Amino acid sequence: MTAVILNGKTLSEQIRAEIALETADFVKATGVTPCLAAVLVGEDPGSQVYVRNKQKACEKAGIASQLHRPPANISTEELLALVDRLNRDPAVHGILIQSPPPKQIDERRVLEAVNPLKDVDAFHPDNVGRIVQGRPRFMPCTPYGIQQMLLRNNIPIAGANVVVVGRSDIVGKPMAILLMQRGPGGDATVTVCHSRTRDLPAVTRSADILIVAIGRPKFITADMVKPGAVVIDVGMNRLETGLVGDVDFEAVKEVAGHITPVPGGVGLLTVTMLLRNTLTAARLQTGKCSGGLGIRD
Ligand code: NAP
Repeated sequence: MTAVILNGKTLSEQIRAEIALETADFVKATGVTPCLAAVLVGEDPGSQVYVRNKQKACEKAGIASQLHRPPANISTEELLALVDRLNRDPAVHGILIQSPPPKQIDERRVLEAVNPLKDVDAFHPDNVGRIVQGRPRFMPCTPYGIQQMLLRNNIPIAGANVVVVGRSDIVGKPMAILLMQRGPGGDATVTVCHSRTRDLPAVTRSADILIVAIGRPKFITADMVKPGAVVIDVGMNRLETGLVGDVDFEAVKEVAGHITPVPGGVGLLTVTMLLRNTLTAARLQTGKCSGGLGIRD
């Protein structure tokens, strides 16, 4: 069997077109253009590419963007002062602190300083708590993109055995939370695995939907996948030969029922959901949205 390829590019284009239409309507109704302010500290080449891609995507959707580039030796206090300025700037609706910042920066303090209404990455504890309680203000970008990919490809989630490999605050944990929530897009039976999991292949083989976010190139091999399973590869590992995921794509696609490629899978959806959150932030700040997203929002 050869798996159906879940194409993140086509789906992203579709969702970005929806967001562009909604943004145009919003601008017409309010006279306000949603604006994302990205803060990029230092010269990390990977981060520069990510931020540039996010800005280009904003532009195409009719969302304004700002780029703030403090020097690599900025102190936490100085960065907090910049965040404070952006928090108070009414023209800025979303704030993004590109990770990872240089070592001297207390990242947690900086992320907690972002106004929760402008926290489009959904990293602030206030927003994380709301996600856990099932009343999100902003959806976590990568997990939300994956949930949309499952929903829009009509992959049954309710009652499915989902195995999430990786327990990061950005992907693994919020992914598990979204899929175990009660209601549409949720109701799965979720198992979360990590580096201390005993007999990982036995657990991954129990998955109807296997979601992998560990940062280890081609770690998931064909023998770790149940025939017909849906395999979502979040990994982005830059090797000399190019970008590869956490899944051994060539071998696993012969076993899985559906699979995401890397590149061209989950990564594009993450940026798309950042646009969605920026529009939501603008709505919240202009009083045009009461907060609390629906599953198709
Ligand atoms: P992370 O913070 O790097 O954490 C890795 C997780 O994987 C940890 O929970 C770790 O377990 C677990 N792990 C590591 N080795 C393992 C092993 N041998 N067996 C089982 N579990 C193992 O994770 P992340 O930030 O979520 O990033 C993961 C990958 O996703 C990276 O390649 C990253 O670039 C990519 N990513 C992609 C997107 C996207 O948009 N496509 C977004 C975010 C991240 P412990 O907790 O026990 O250490």
